[in-house]
Amino acid sequence: MKDLVFATHNAHKLEEIRAILKEYNILGLNDINCHTDIIEDANTLEGNAIIKANFVTNNYNINCFADDTGLEVEALDGAPGVYSARYAGENCSYQDNVIKLLDALKDIENRKARFRTVIALNLDGRQYTFEGIVNGIITKEQHGEKGFGYDPIFLPDGYDMTFAEMPLEIKNKISHRGIATQKLIEFLKLK
Ligand code: IMP
Repeated sequence: MKDLVFATHNAHKLEEIRAILKEYNILGLNDINCHTDIIEDANTLEGNAIIKANFVTNNYNINCFADDTGLEVEALDGAPGVYSARYAGENCSYQDNVIKLLDALKDIENRKARFRTVIALNLDGRQYTFEGIVNGIITKEQHGEKGFGYDPIFLPDGYDMTFAEMPLEIKNKISHRGIATQKLIEFLKLK
């Protein structure tokens, strides 16, 4: 079975992908003894995903994929976007980010937003990218306890529950990350 690194330390993300991609031996950064804090300093999601995947492939000479996600709000010209994790500043909490975003949109009617995930894959000397998008709106208040990040204020189009109110199985099916991952998996299964 071919080794394939997923450039993450997140055990939950690794478990998820191992459960659906049984054709590959999926390794995390810890499994290859990579403890470097890879600096994601690109100004696009594509750029950051490529930085992470290339870091691993170039330093460990191994096939690798990496993902990066952002919440893009139409009325804010796509912000927080690539800066979604640290929108309210370095070391801020998810709650700090949510409060800052609600405040930024407080007098704004246009609440349209989308989550976007980009996955970069380095496979046998070639590079591929996969994108997943889910459209929705930013609610005026927080709803729900599940999930993480901006989930309590993101209402996906066609649903009457925020991501934080939705069972995880449904979120995983319709989410940005779910869609991008599904595209990656279909591609790898055909290889
Ligand atoms: P990452 O690239 O997966 O680390 O995501 C960057 C940031 O986007 C996270 O720190 C969260 O603030 C936000 N984010 C990513 N995915 C989700 C999601 O599924 N729900 C809510 N927020 C998310």
